[in-house]
Amino acid sequence: MKNFKVLLTLFLLFIVSCSESMKSNSSTNYLEPSTPLILISIDGFRWDYFNKTDTPNFDRIINNGIQAEGLKTVYPSKTFPNHISIITGNYPSNHGIISNYFYDPSFDEYYYIGAGSVAAQDGKWIQAEPIWVTVEKQLKRAMIMFWPMSDAEIEGIRPSEYYVYSDSPTNISRMEQLLKWLDLEGTNRPTFLASYFSIVDTIGHRYGPNSQEVVDSIKDVDDAIGHLLDGLDKRGLMNEVNLVIVSDHGMVDTPADQIINIADYINLDDVVTIGGGPFMEIRPNGNDIETIYQQLQNIEHTQVYKKDDFPAKFNYSNNDRIEPIIFIANEGWSIQKPGRNPSPGSHGYDPDYKSMDGIFIARGPAFKENFKGPVIQNIHLYEMMCSLMNINPAQNDGSLDETKVFLKQN
Ligand code: AMP
Ligand code: ZN
Ligand code: ZN
Repeated sequence: MKNFKVLLTLFLLFIVSCSESMKSNSSTNYLEPSTPLILISIDGFRWDYFNKTDTPNFDRIINNGIQAEGLKTVYPSKTFPNHISIITGNYPSNHGIISNYFYDPSFDEYYYIGAGSVAAQDGKWIQAEPIWVTVEKQLKRAMIMFWPMSDAEIEGIRPSEYYVYSDSPTNISRMEQLLKWLDLEGTNRPTFLASYFSIVDTIGHRYGPNSQEVVDSIKDVDDAIGHLLDGLDKRGLMNEVNLVIVSDHGMVDTPADQIINIADYINLDDVVTIGGGPFMEIRPNGNDIETIYQQLQNIEHTQVYKKDDFPAKFNYSNNDRIEPIIFIANEGWSIQKPGRNPSPGSHGYDPDYKSMDGIFIARGPAFKENFKGPVIQNIHLYEMMCSLMNINPAQNDGSLDETKVFLKQN
């Protein structure tokens, strides 16, 4: 019996370690790597969070590198659409990940995110080329410890090394993994490395952007970045790699008394609703789009649009995954079904609200030093990153010209 228990424990440990272990790709004839590029995302790190507390390690990047006034998100200002725009250079209607949660009529399936999501690990959902596929196709290695959809096979290609998404590994261990990958030699060494922190977003939702808890989470991430910088220093790599740190969107207070109850305006039996909070998409059960649209007209703190009339500035219309009616709330307001309350902080609003801006800071041989530049749109980073790694970009909506102001040679 005792032996059985020991065996069972070992078996369970094996299962847990498998689910969090690194996955590797098969052998290809890789070329010599280019100057490595490290891309890190800090989910939900609003453009002005650096002003909330001392961030000595972020300062090591900003003072020796560049800082944009902000990073403009794409609509909707949610995690997956923006992470996928950053690594494909496409607007969501062109890369297909139009929200964190949506319906595809041809698959007759819903896309959803989170640790354990099957859809988020399935490459059939993405309609543009991620940068790690661009890199691997050109026979350089990509190694990623968490980035939305980096654990999916896309066009038959995966990063040379990657992890299936999990919330549990510590922030420091993620940076430690990047350093270990940089220790690889010759054609085993990666050209593109990426990682991701979720803590600042999670805490921002739970306690609101003005909480002490958010300040603490900023300090946590600053410590992890310090670990990465110390590791680069120790290896003599500080000026041999380009390091880019971004976030996907900002965060705003969403008070519990700023709610629009959708059931006050339409009969929920007549529609399918998708999402909630900063926006809700609506699919009438019959064909009566007009009636539902009229019922949602002139409601304070909201705007309603038919898909085809959604303002052009959002670049959000030509995809079957977008529903016929888009109902959006003004900053800080939440569209909810009865009995649902917003969390203290949220995002997903019109990217024109400054509170939705993320960050773009960087340092390394390609970047100017001690340079502050303008807000740029996140769709332009793909072209910039391809240029830094000396690889040819795939089709995308961005432009290299937009980021040249931050680069030494422009
Ligand atoms: P949001 O709801 O827009 O705030 O999304 C943030 C959430 O996205 C995180 O809390 C994670 O649960 C989830 N997430 C982040 N990266 C991944 C990933 N690579 N795979 C699946 N889910 C993820
Ligand atoms: Zn996010
Ligand atoms: Zn979030």
